[in-house]
Amino acid sequence: TMEFTDRVTRVEPSATLAISALATELENEGADIVDLSVGEPDFPTPENIVEAGKDAMDAGHTGYTTSAGILELREAIVDKLAADGLEHTTDEVIVTPGAKQALYEIVQSLVEDGDEVVLLDPAWVSYEAMVKMAGGDLTRVDLSDSDFQLEPALDDLEAAVSDDTELLIVNSPSNPTGAVYSDAALEGVRDLAVEHDVTVISDEIYKEITYGVEPTSLGTFDGMADRTITVNGFSKAYSMTGWRLGYFAGPEDLIDQAGKLHSHSVSSAVNFVQHAGIEALENTDTAVEEMVEAFEERRDLVIDLLDDHGVDVAEPQGAFYMMLPVDDDDQEWCEGALEDAHVATVPGSAFGTPGYARISYAASEERLEEGIERLAEEGYL
Ligand code: PLP
Repeated sequence: TMEFTDRVTRVEPSATLAISALATELENEGADIVDLSVGEPDFPTPENIVEAGKDAMDAGHTGYTTSAGILELREAIVDKLAADGLEHTTDEVIVTPGAKQALYEIVQSLVEDGDEVVLLDPAWVSYEAMVKMAGGDLTRVDLSDSDFQLEPALDDLEAAVSDDTELLIVNSPSNPTGAVYSDAALEGVRDLAVEHDVTVISDEIYKEITYGVEPTSLGTFDGMADRTITVNGFSKAYSMTGWRLGYFAGPEDLIDQAGKLHSHSVSSAVNFVQHAGIEALENTDTAVEEMVEAFEERRDLVIDLLDDHGVDVAEPQGAFYMMLPVDDDDQEWCEGALEDAHVATVPGSAFGTPGYARISYAASEERLEEGIERLAEEGYL
């Protein structure tokens, strides 16, 4: 028999699996499921990006690339980061198969047995798994009492961060809450990071998807340039989840170390996908704006519909998720909502915050209306 490592056995299978397994089972039985559980845009990848990918294949860009990614894409990324106020050279960027791989490589490079990592809850599910696989210990700061905003919870963050803290992970706009942290909140993060010499990952994968607010990149604050690793990707802003393309930028010594992990594991991101990434960054503004407008209309629609049923939610300012307050036993609520109303959502406990269900509004207005109506009819609102 095989003996498995501690590093893999100590990670739980994701709580969302139970929900998707049940959804598939019901669908196989013929049920029409309104799926509000997915973490991906429901739009096709913009045409010009698809064309650029095909052209790159036709042009023979099908071999290995430089491990860190083709220079032209890293140059486009450096320009994108500069537009966000972040100064980097192409030597400080690694292109990865998805932002998830970027985060994995960073965590593996910085966290070892017993190192303390601070998360802001609710937090995206994979941060916890990645930290556990690296052997790190989690300290979690709950933002649910402050409408998921960080600024009012800075005291709690201050209490959580100490000289023992190795790493803090910040994700704004946030999955699962859609919260965008204020500049004052990020200044608070900076003060603590500098005081306690903490490295910070700024996961900015939803940065391009915001409604009337402009999130500031954490690495632009005084004192943060040499302690921030900025992560971003193409999945959400350009609706490219299946292409698997992301990147990270940070201090060169971190890039050198993580680069070893990168080259000995994935080698590089896919060659022609990297070429499509250049097109995405350079020529896709209008399509992104249109998607963001659609998300904003849907956000407003869902908030209005919930309001009609007397349910109040914290208004998201970015991404395409919101947290619906439900019973304490959110796992049971989600399973019930799926079985009775045929509406799939994700339990808040998966993100470290029981008592909520995450709704993704990356679905058509018609399906969103149908989903809320069914939840109301079955007594789930
Ligand atoms: N970070 C956050 C907060 C996410 O929600 C996701 C995807 O769900 C990722 C990173 C990873 O995205 P990808 O690997 O598709 O680039």
